[in-house]
Amino acid sequence: MFSYRHAFHAGNHADVLKHFITLQLLQYLNQKDTAYSYIDTHSGAGVYELDGNFASKNAEYETGIGPLWKLDDVPAPLKEYVDLIKAMNPSGKMRYYPGSPYIAEQVAREQDRLRLFELHPADVRLLADNFRKLEEHAAAQGIRPTVRGKRVIIAKSDGFASLKALLPPPSRRALVLIDPPYEDKQDYKKTKDALDDALKRFPGGTYAVWYPLLQRIESRNFAEKLKQLPASDWLNVVLTIKKPMPDGVDGLHSSGMFILNPPYTLEPMLKQVMPWLVKALAKDSGARFTLESGTPATAARNTGER
Ligand code: SAM
Repeated sequence: MFSYRHAFHAGNHADVLKHFITLQLLQYLNQKDTAYSYIDTHSGAGVYELDGNFASKNAEYETGIGPLWKLDDVPAPLKEYVDLIKAMNPSGKMRYYPGSPYIAEQVAREQDRLRLFELHPADVRLLADNFRKLEEHAAAQGIRPTVRGKRVIIAKSDGFASLKALLPPPSRRALVLIDPPYEDKQDYKKTKDALDDALKRFPGGTYAVWYPLLQRIESRNFAEKLKQLPASDWLNVVLTIKKPMPDGVDGLHSSGMFILNPPYTLEPMLKQVMPWLVKALAKDSGARFTLESGTPATAARNTGER
């Protein structure tokens, strides 16, 4: 059950897509003073050491943050994400990579609430340790009185089940990130069911789902199923860095972020940034992106390719 460790994949092309978009969704919420909840159903460890045993095994970050780190013409929205990573590596050497909870902790404000769920016993311990270190660091700098307590709650519990109790959030504003490992094909169904339930409890929330593009049927049909959910609209962006190969032969080539009730600013921003990102991360002529948006009733198609 606990074979998946995100540390093996930290900073790869899929993390870049997921984390850059998550940061943008949080920045959009920051435009209004009213507090919001950030709910991370599958949090991971929060911070990863790129020179540690896990991340250095296949050096997957070389497909993602590695090349971005070295470029100096990064488009502004993507640069915010790269700058956040540079700020956590003040020596200038790329050693630490943030997980989604760390990104949320840095971008969300004092009045916002972070609810973080993780089931793996080692990763939930690391997550709590990483947040304790952040709290100590913040206290030493006098910049934020506390990152835990009311503002951040970390729980070793099932993210799908825990989501139910948190919706609707008190402030009626929330971003929910659902990012399971998908090693168990049940994760596809559990994600769709959780969204179905969440939309009934809180139709106005923004829901972001990361997913891998694999040959298994559940993966190939997944986005089409999510498009039928009763949100007011959806956006689906897929990043592919190389030509398809049989699953597992050469790692993951392609992944998507599916967003229900996206902010209206997201699509134009992605149209601007994705062509640049494809060029920066391309491994061969199969590199491309697709961007589509629509409502459950109409699937207005809008595809861009390199
Ligand atoms: N969201 C993280 C990030 O972007 O940094 C990465 C999460 S990783 C892809 C998926 C995590 O979900 C793993 O750490 C795994 O242990 C955890 N997990 C698996 N099933 C879970 C469940 N039902 N509830 C909560 N966490 C779960």
